[in-house]
Amino acid sequence: MSKELIRLTQCTMAFDGEVVLNSMNLVINDKEFLTLLGPSGCGKTTTLRIIGGFVTPTSGDVCFDGVRINDVPPHKRAVNTVFQKYALFPHLNVYENVAFGLRIARGKNSRLSKAEIDERVMEMLAVVSLKGFEHRDVSSLSGGQQQRVAIARALVNRPKVLLLDEPLGALDMRLRKDMQNELKRIHEAMGITFINVTHDQEEALAMSDTVVVMDGGEIQQIGSPEAIYNEPVNAFVADFIGESNIVDGTMISDGVVEIFGRKFKCLDKGFGENEPVDVVIRPEDVDIVNVKDGMLTGTVTNTTFKGVHYDVIVDFKGFKWLIQTTDFCPIDSRIGIKIDPDGIHVMKKSQYSGMFGDYSSYSAEYDDIGDAEYMPEEETAEVESYEA
Ligand code: ATP
Repeated sequence: MSKELIRLTQCTMAFDGEVVLNSMNLVINDKEFLTLLGPSGCGKTTTLRIIGGFVTPTSGDVCFDGVRINDVPPHKRAVNTVFQKYALFPHLNVYENVAFGLRIARGKNSRLSKAEIDERVMEMLAVVSLKGFEHRDVSSLSGGQQQRVAIARALVNRPKVLLLDEPLGALDMRLRKDMQNELKRIHEAMGITFINVTHDQEEALAMSDTVVVMDGGEIQQIGSPEAIYNEPVNAFVADFIGESNIVDGTMISDGVVEIFGRKFKCLDKGFGENEPVDVVIRPEDVDIVNVKDGMLTGTVTNTTFKGVHYDVIVDFKGFKWLIQTTDFCPIDSRIGIKIDPDGIHVMKKSQYSGMFGDYSSYSAEYDDIGDAEYMPEEETAEVESYEA
């Protein structure tokens, strides 16, 4: 069981009377890789800045190792930050950029010898895979290499926590993927806590032990990447973390939910009888079958080849779903679908209900859109009700 390191209790942040972080409670464990994920303006950078000591919360407590640190300035916290704009010193080479943190620390707390500085810098350059680059001019490095220098410089003081503010935001897609793996490896090698901020859900899922999904200055969900993806708590989280079809449903009883007037088996329990709910169905959890075998039937309005699979837009009674399949489905064809109970996830209604999960506008992005007809009688005739 990991030990608690940082605790935010009822942290609220207001700028000019406007609340941008609302009573946040968050516990971060020692050695955890935690990512604050959310859209622009949701308050994730403000949370990071509160932990770093760059801003003081309007109310609430920040504790480190059980000690309240609201009034402790950034340089006295066992925390270092890597920014999206690396802020390297252009007139110093790689070695001196990394050594800088140690040289300024020298006067204050520790008096490191030249040999000790050399050992620590070389150790950090090895951790970020930049051995042999020590004499290079930083302006001659690629974006990814500059980012590694920034990480080495932040780690060389041996902080207990590394704060990463959109560290991969300036890199192109390919490099970003490489650096995701690198950051995971560096985290393991260092054995300290990493707190990362991003709006990129794929990055959050790929790197983190724990993902904190935020919106409107509030935490929506905290969990492992798997839990956040498979069991989102509301339509916002479901939509933000990957593609999802989100439809209205009614919970008939434990393990049975009704969608489009049909009953589907699911694994969810503990809702009220006949409680209105939001139902999430991920595009990859829908199987395409013959019309006669389908739990629902619909009309294909668009098919796009994506390499690994096709993105197929299917119209069910005017509601468009995204289905990902390796089967080719021509436009205008009628298809049946099947969904296993574990492909259905039921959520409580929330302030986000009805706002996400319809692919009508998605299909409009394509040039050739089939205009699916609404055929209630035909639907009713073709669809076999699935009785649990
Ligand atoms: P982004 O991904 O765009 O950086 P974010 O989720 O990190 O977004 P924050 O930077 O935490 O969001 O900002 C949250 C809100 O607080 C925004 O509306 C922002 O304009 C506001 N804000 C942040 N810092 C200040 C400040 N110093 N003064 C006034 N408003 C601020």
